Amino acid sequence: MTLSVTRTTHGLVLGGGLAGMLTARVLRRHLDQVTVIERDELPEGPHHRKGLPQARHAHLLWSGGARLIESLLPGTTERLQAAGARRIGVYRDMVSLTAYGWQQRFPETQFLFAASRPLLDWTVRDLTLADRQITVRSRTEAVALLGDATRVTAVTVRDLDQDTTTDLTADLVVDTTGRGSRLGKWLDALDVPAPQEDVVDSGITYATRVYRAPGRTADSFPMVSVHSDYRTREPGRFGLILPVEDGQWIVTLSGTRGSEPPTDVDGFTAFAKDLAHPLISELIGLATPLTPVQGSRSTANRRRYYERDTVRPENLIALGDAVAGFNPVYGHGMSAAARSAAALDRALRRNLGTPELAAAAQRGISRAVDDPWNLATAQDVFYPNCRIQADDPRLEEELNSQERFTELVCTAGLNTAPVAAAVAGVSALAAPATSLQSPAVLGALRGGTTPAPDAPTLTDEEWARVNAPADQD
Ligand SMILES: Cc1cc2nc3c(=O)[nH]c(=O)nc-3n(C[C@H](O)[C@H](O)[C@H](O)COP(=O)(O)OP(=O)(O)OC[C@H]3O[C@@H](n4cnc5c(N)ncnc54)[C@H](O)[C@@H]3O)c2cc1C
Repeated sequence: MTLSVTRTTHGLVLGGGLAGMLTARVLRRHLDQVTVIERDELPEGPHHRKGLPQARHAHLLWSGGARLIESLLPGTTERLQAAGARRIGVYRDMVSLTAYGWQQRFPETQFLFAASRPLLDWTVRDLTLADRQITVRSRTEAVALLGDATRVTAVTVRDLDQDTTTDLTADLVVDTTGRGSRLGKWLDALDVPAPQEDVVDSGITYATRVYRAPGRTADSFPMVSVHSDYRTREPGRFGLILPVEDGQWIVTLSGTRGSEPPTDVDGFTAFAKDLAHPLISELIGLATPLTPVQGSRSTANRRRYYERDTVRPENLIALGDAVAGFNPVYGHGMSAAARSAAALDRALRRNLGTPELAAAAQRGISRAVDDPWNLATAQDVFYPNCRIQADDPRLEEELNSQERFTELVCTAGLNTAPVAAAVAGVSALAAPATSLQSPAVLGALRGGTTPAPDAPTLTDEEWARVNAPADQD
């Protein structure tokens, strides 16, 4: 009689942010056990933590990402909404001055979730960790890889409280340590060259203050955004009021190099007034500030091309901001991580147990981040003093023709429903950028357009609610 002995398979995820949790969930579809290594103490609830400074700022979770997260972690949507996250219909619930003009509030074709980042992270983390075969080693830092150029055998981790190191073995290792990933250096120690890296840095800086929503807007109010026109070739200035849970508004102001928003209260208020339209300034003038102003700078578009490596450990993959981080003004980082996790799932289904796995996964992840990369960089390069260290040929060859086409489509999208729907699909990362060239869109462009709104699109009823006494109900 032959006894068959099955071995327990184990995946290691380095970094327990949003990309790390989605990765852990995906790995568990294919492996017996998953361990997440996280430097921070992860909070038991929707609270801020040191390793996620960007969580203080407004975060949009577009429908392209939200649907994928729901499919990986069923129940996410319901949990988010039960906790007060707002579902913003695109463009029904958006009052938006784009680079091209005021957007008509067409019926919803896409949506986004507006919630604090701690709530988004906690919801995803709690659902992921409900699986008892996924465990987190918190206050533990990944410091090195063991193995050789063909295969990683273990990861050296340091316990930050005990100051001791241990080597953890794994069948598969995924780096999700974010923008500060040291994977290139770790690979160097295995005699594997670091990946090629592109950086497009418009120098965008963020400043955020949280307010109590004014009047009777606590339960529902549109998202309000004001963008400057990048075609002026002046530094960009952006403002956003994101209505989130607990009757709060997260107000984020940002500016590219040469127009950075100050982080003192007076400077913040003055910057809001100087946006391309003073609507945000008028609205926050009626709201009650709850926090000081918080700043952030780590916002460059940065992409590492692991899929181009010719030498690579077959069981080592990178995903999330560790592969591609974007100018956050476009709100695409979390959705790109969700798309990448879905790509990893497909690669595991086809290639688990083969030497092709990492290369196939990295190719899929590269495709998943390509649209958000191209959308962000193709616009950012036009801001003054944008620092570019990039080999992406599209930044040279296609930019001018792409700019003219983008201008045509986005202007028509302000007031032509089918074009608006196509633009919404691409912005939400729910449809490929190529869908902007579909026969329906091209036909609508040929049909001519009606004038876009020439003033903010808040309704009289919304203005009345902003100005109503807070206790009137
Ligand atoms: C200002 C700002 C605003 C943003 N706004 C949006 C938005 O509106 N919409 C959107 O979709 N995206 C937005 N993003 C992007 C979004 O925050 C990221 O894409 C998202 O957090 C996914 O990142 P990640 O999990 O790959 O990395 P991170 O969130 O950086 O997580 C990495 C994790 O790894 C841990 N870690 C790091 N090194 C180690 C190590 N050596 N060992 C163990 N653990 C380690 C860290 O503590 C952290 O928990 C914004 C980003 C910024 C900076």
